Amino acid sequence: MPPMRSRFRCPRCGEVLTPWSRELELAEALNPFESQTWLLPARWFVRWDHPGLRDSYLGGHPASYPWLFAPLTRWWVQVHPDSRRTAGCCGLASSGSGLPNLVCACGLEIGLGHRDCSGPHWYALHESVVHEQEVDATPLQATAGRLARLRYRVERPIARPGHDPGGRNVWHHERARWNEALRLRAVTIDCGGGIEDPALVIESPQLPSGAQLVVPLPWCQLVRLAVLGEQPWGEAESPLTWMSGRREGPHVCVSRYRRRVLLTAWGPDQTSWAVTIEVRAWADAWAWL
Ligand SMILES: [Zn+2]
Ligand SMILES: [Zn+2]
Repeated sequence: MPPMRSRFRCPRCGEVLTPWSRELELAEALNPFESQTWLLPARWFVRWDHPGLRDSYLGGHPASYPWLFAPLTRWWVQVHPDSRRTAGCCGLASSGSGLPNLVCACGLEIGLGHRDCSGPHWYALHESVVHEQEVDATPLQATAGRLARLRYRVERPIARPGHDPGGRNVWHHERARWNEALRLRAVTIDCGGGIEDPALVIESPQLPSGAQLVVPLPWCQLVRLAVLGEQPWGEAESPLTWMSGRREGPHVCVSRYRRRVLLTAWGPDQTSWAVTIEVRAWADAWAWL
């Protein structure tokens, strides 16, 4: 069978609820445990009974919501208007009631979402959604080779901690403040530190001589970005986010607005910093890794 791609529609109004997405099989790209980190990359989906999720925080996940995604923006699905369905301690959560907290634009209750501080972030669609499939005209190639190269490359030792570029009060949703962060016009990205505790190393002519940014991330997140070609940012309402549980931070978020991405790193403890990077330079640097 040729590689396929899927999208999902509302069973009542027919509206599209997801972009065209590929089914994720590579278990190394799944995130069963890390908090503040998407369960899987955007534009991929996985069934709740994937073997890689068997011992995950999704243990009690209801079988009636089998289709799991990274958090989707309001373009696709909306958060339920009843705040009792959506209130976690700091983000979207289903409050244990098991009642749906995501709706289609037509109002139909259609999904469960979790974007709170504990456990991976995910959206799940109800089994009643319409599953549409077609042949994937541009399937990913040479994934195994890229994964092998990344495993080799990540073994390079790196010096921690990295440079602190300032910008500690810059937030994704306050675009007026983005200009307070150091602006990087050109960057290179490398990785190192080993599979158990990897980090990105970002160099730029706009950083002081010899300085580099060091950004820890879970191995699954590095695999998504470097092997699966995941888009290296989210929208400001739902930035791409990750946290390396091994170091209990930093909590990293990347979002885009026009031609810049904002990269913020909070913690551990009181440390935090932010930079903005030209979108093209950031995307090109990932393509070269
Ligand atoms: Zn609908
Ligand atoms: Zn919370």
